Parts: sequence; C-alpha cells; structure tokens
Amino acid sequence: MSPIHDLANQPLTAAPATAKKLEKLGIRRRFDFILHLPLRYEDETHLYPIASAPYGQAVLVEGEVLSQEIQFKPRRQLVVQIEDATATLILRFIHFYPSQQKQLAIGRRVRALGEVRRGFFGDEMVHPKCRDVLPGDGLATSLTPVYPTVAGLAQPVLRRMVQQELKAQPLFETLPPGMAEAERLIPFADAVSILHAPTPDYSVKQLTDPLLPAWQRLKFDELLAQQLSMRLAYRARRQGRAVAIRGDGRLSTPFLNGLPFALTRAQQKVLAEIHADMGAEHPMHRLLQGDVGSGKTVVAALAALAAIEAGFQVALMAPTEILAEQHYLKLSAWLAPLGVDVAWLSGSLRKKQKTDVLARIGDGTARLAVGTHALFQDTVQFAGLGLAIVDEQHRFGVGQRLALKDKGGEPHQLMMSATPIPRTLAMSFFADLDVSVIDELPPGRTPIVTKLINSGRREEIIAFVDKTCRQGQQVYWVCPLIEESETLQLQTAVDTHLQLGEDLPQWKVGLVHGRMKPAEKAAVMAAFAANELQVLVATTVIEVGVDVPNASLMVIEHGERMGLAQLHQLRGRVGRGSAKSVCVLMFETPLSELAKARLKVIYEHTDGFEIARQDLQIRGPGEFLGARQSGAPMLRFANLEEDIALLERARELAPLMLERWPEAVQRHLDRWLAGREHFLKA
Ligand code: ADP
Ligand code: MG
Repeated sequence: MSPIHDLANQPLTAAPATAKKLEKLGIRRRFDFILHLPLRYEDETHLYPIASAPYGQAVLVEGEVLSQEIQFKPRRQLVVQIEDATATLILRFIHFYPSQQKQLAIGRRVRALGEVRRGFFGDEMVHPKCRDVLPGDGLATSLTPVYPTVAGLAQPVLRRMVQQELKAQPLFETLPPGMAEAERLIPFADAVSILHAPTPDYSVKQLTDPLLPAWQRLKFDELLAQQLSMRLAYRARRQGRAVAIRGDGRLSTPFLNGLPFALTRAQQKVLAEIHADMGAEHPMHRLLQGDVGSGKTVVAALAALAAIEAGFQVALMAPTEILAEQHYLKLSAWLAPLGVDVAWLSGSLRKKQKTDVLARIGDGTARLAVGTHALFQDTVQFAGLGLAIVDEQHRFGVGQRLALKDKGGEPHQLMMSATPIPRTLAMSFFADLDVSVIDELPPGRTPIVTKLINSGRREEIIAFVDKTCRQGQQVYWVCPLIEESETLQLQTAVDTHLQLGEDLPQWKVGLVHGRMKPAEKAAVMAAFAANELQVLVATTVIEVGVDVPNASLMVIEHGERMGLAQLHQLRGRVGRGSAKSVCVLMFETPLSELAKARLKVIYEHTDGFEIARQDLQIRGPGEFLGARQSGAPMLRFANLEEDIALLERARELAPLMLERWPEAVQRHLDRWLAGREHFLKA
C-alpha cells in the first residue's frame, strides 16, 4: 500500500467520547471529515439595514440593544429590542440562558442572524443566532457551512474539525488521467473545497443546487465507487467454478406440451438467457424479474427441469413458509406427473418426516427440494446440487448468500423478484447480478379497473360483490393487515367471514388464513378454484401465488395500511381471466400524506415497474433493498432518480477503469468505501 493510501485511511485522533459522537455521523477515519458535507449554508457576508431586510430568508442585521425584558405571557420569554440607523427590530427567545441576557445587555452592539417576520408588535426574529460586535469587526467573506451533527457536538467544534482536515488531508485525484476532463467534472480537491469553504462569489442558491459542478463531482465519485465495487463482486463470482448444465428436453418437452398455453416471447427469451448461463462453467447469478402475473413460475420450473434432466438436483427457497408452500404445491402438481420426486422441507414437519425428507435429498431420490431459506442453511446435504432458485432474493442479505456448496463447485443461482425492481436500482444496487426481465404479460389479460371507496360505503360494495357473483364470477375479500398482532388479524378475518356470510346468504363464502393447516388451506383453495365457493375471505396470505382466473373482483379493506408492492401483488390476483376485473380499495379517513400518495399511485398505474419506480421515490431505496442495504454501499449524495445521467456514465466507465487503471480503482475504493468492501465479497 502506498503512503497516500495510509493517509486516506488514517484513524481518528479524537477523544473517545467525541469519537463516539463522530461515529454516529459515519466519521470513522480522518478522511471521513472530508466526505461529511454541509447540510446548508448561512450567509454572514452581508449586513442588511433592518428597514430593508427581506422576509422569508435568513439575514444578518446589526444594531444596538435598546431594551431587554423577560415577559411572562403567554409564556416566559426574553424580548430584546435592537436598533440600527434605519429601524428597530425585536429579538425573541423562548429558551434562553443568563449568558444571553448578558450578551444582549442594553447598549451592546450585536449581530443577529435569522429570519425576519412580521410580529404583533412589529418586525421580529425568533431565536436568532447572536454575536457581539467589536468596533472594526469585519463580516465573513464567504458563506458559513452548517453540518449535520449530533447532540453534544457543537456546530462550531465540528466545523473546525472539518476545516482542519480539509487543510491536512491530501485531496489527491483518484480518477485516471484525463477522465475528469473528458467527463467535464471538476477536480475532487476543488469540489470539496468549494463545498466546505466556498469562496465569496458563491451564493446559497448556487451551493444548494444539485447541478453545481462540485456536487456533480461528488455524486459521480460516489456512483463510480458503487459501480466499481459491484463489478468487482461480479468478477470474483465469474472466477468461481460450476458445472456446465445442459438439459436434453426429456422432461421439459412433455411438460411444455402438457401446458394449456404456449410460452410468451418474453418467457422464451429469459429462458434462453438462463439456459446459456447454466451451460457455462462459472456459477450463474441471474435475477429474474417480471411483473405480477408475468409467468415467472413456469420459467423457474423449466430451468429446474433442465438441471434435473442433466442429472442434478435443484433447491427452491422462499423467504416465508407460506410462499415456499405455494411454490411446492404448484411445482409438485406440475413435476410429479413427469416422475420427478419433489421434496417439501417445512419447519412444521415432525422429526421422523424431516429425517425422511433429508434422506431423500441426501441420497438423490428427491430431485427438487422446496423450503424456506433458513431451512436450507443448516443441515441439508445434497447428492448433487446443480441449481438453486431463490425467490424474493432482495429480501436476503448479501452477507447471507447461499451457504449451499457442493463438490462439483458452486450451484448456479436463479433469483426471482416478485416486486419489480426499478431500472435505476437494478443498474446500481443490483449491478453485480445479471438480470432477465419478462417484459410482457401472457395474452388475454384484461386491464384491471381500480376503485377507491371510503369504507363508509360498505353496502354498495356488498351489492357489487353480489352482482359479480350473479355474473358467474368470483370475489376475493382481503382483510386488513394488522401489523401489531397476528391474533387480531386472524380475529378480524373470522369476523369478516361471519359478517359476509350474513350479508350474502345467497353465496358460499370461504375463509383462508395463515394459521390454517396446509391441508385445510389447500382444501379451501381447491373449493374456490372449482367455484364451490364464490367469495373467498383471506388475510394477506393470498398476496403471492394464488391463481384463480375466474376471480374478477378483489376487495381490499384498509388499503391505506398496505405498501405499494403489496397492493400491486394483491391486485394482480385478478385480471387473469377474460372477464373485466375490478379492484376495490376500501380506505378509512383521515388519510396520512403517505397513504394518500400510495393510493394515488396504485389508482393511476397498473404497470408494476412504474409502481416500483414511484415507490422508490416515495420511500427511498431502503425498503427495496431489505437486508441487502447493510452490505451494498448506500448512496449519500447521489439520488437515483435525479442523477441517472451520472449513474449511466459511472456504469460505462467502471469496467474501463478496472481494466486499465487498477491502481486508481483501489485508491478510489479506499477513499469511498474504506473497509466496507468485504460485504461485497460474500
Ligand atoms: P408470477 O410471475 O406473478 O409468479 P405466475 O407464474 O404465477 O406469475 O403466472 C401467472 C399465471 O399465468 C399462472 O396462472 C400461469 O399458469 C399463467 N401463465 C404463465 N405463463 C403463461 C403464458 N405464456 N400464457 C398464458 N398463461 C400463462
Ligand atoms: Mg409468482
């Protein structure tokens, strides 16, 4: 490591108590001060005459204290009046210290920084920042940066630390020669100097403009670091060994022939991508994306069949037992007739059953094993695992990536995402994966009409349910999500079931919830599928996997409590047949701003990718990433929506830089990731 690297990673020299506070701000080494950028700026470069100080922005005024008093109504407060050559101004403090009273004694000259507003007794400033003035005191020559800080770490102290490091740290360039110029980016050293210590010619407006070249440079560097680290992870994986798998069609051909439909063009395309990956001697890590109802399960089944044909076993993992079980039911119904032994590895199996299942997997009798991710992590020994299919992969952390290894090398991995991942996220946080997108829905789907209805209009909804059933169609009725208590949720579902039974005596109303035994659940689902039940009351268990094309109405109670992805998944349970489908979202007023924003999105859009994009805007990337966020480098400065152009540049330049300037890559990652890279190697 060069001496320059050592400098970039110098540890803090602060006292332990201070170091602890700095740690909260993400400052762990000296260089982190440089990347701790101001939140905003205060303007103390310009003195306004009180009479002409504008409203609505922080201004600096100077005057002599005329009066000072403590008022007790409506509450205790310090009220000070100052005067300059043009006018008087009231300074008002609800919280104050004796030291402030002394500072603002009658006759003293002070400068006050704050917003002027019109008060009952004339113009006033509430809680201005005050400083005494000595004769000849000059004004600040440039704007004052204000940093994010924590309790106990005063702004001036933190500012001084940052300014010190700004002078002490080598702000060398990490981009390869010529790259900054070619990208029209200013040098790193200039960028951080401008932001931490702006020269007098910068205004607050300029410094807070995301398009300021200094910000652009930092955002680019950050995005580049992310791309580089993701690329490195990608490369490391490509260097792993796996067995090349090619199916011979012995199982998949009869399977395809037995399906009541032909694959869509999009399904064929992604399947070809998957087959090509599995045929290579390094492990596949492919993310299969597609909107709800796009037909990912068939694709997964065909990938599994190829591996099974080639003599390998396949594991399919889902994050929850319910999800895993739905996959199991579907896949065993499809594959068992072809003579494929499908094993179900459930947490609720009795010991004896579990031993049997594990034995079947261990001796190779079982060709496909389905279960939750957790179950696969402990004890499962395969006879020859060729492919692992992971559903909802983004809910798993990078750090806990599959512990499944086999003598033949690593298994190929196919990850499926039920929630479409916006393109910007796929390009950034998921850039270490190859991505296949099913970008077309099977033919014959009818668009779903979404209605938002206040829960007070329940009777109209009941009438609509009745009408739908009279037309020979079926109805889902989804009970509210009650996050705090599963028992309460269950109770609500049971009550709703009873109530609907009374409201709709002419129809058969069934109930399905997460606490039912698998066999009971399967029986209810089968009865619904056979139209023996016309209305199915359900908890959110039907969010995934349920498939009854004759159901054309979905009623969701308390839609305002659900997330966008969940609403979209639920709504996707209808619109699968040829009948015109409707989704009724019942909501309870008053609505929070967040709930309003969500309902508006779900009302206006049916495209899952568009919904995901808006969800990203509303919630930020954290929720999408789930556990992944602890590992992947998060973005502090760049914004995926705003900075798409920079993201695209970084994405293009990262491979080039890795190839031609490995030293620069190392320096850049040292600066930006400092010790966090190890997450990516998992
Ligand atoms: P998802 O991508 O949401 O997991 P599924 O795999 O559950 O979607 O598929 C949704 C429904 O579409 C299922 O009933 C499935 O059998 C059906 N399906 C899948 N592919 C096609 C196709 N090419 N043509 C017609 N129906 C299809
Ligand atoms: Mg699915």
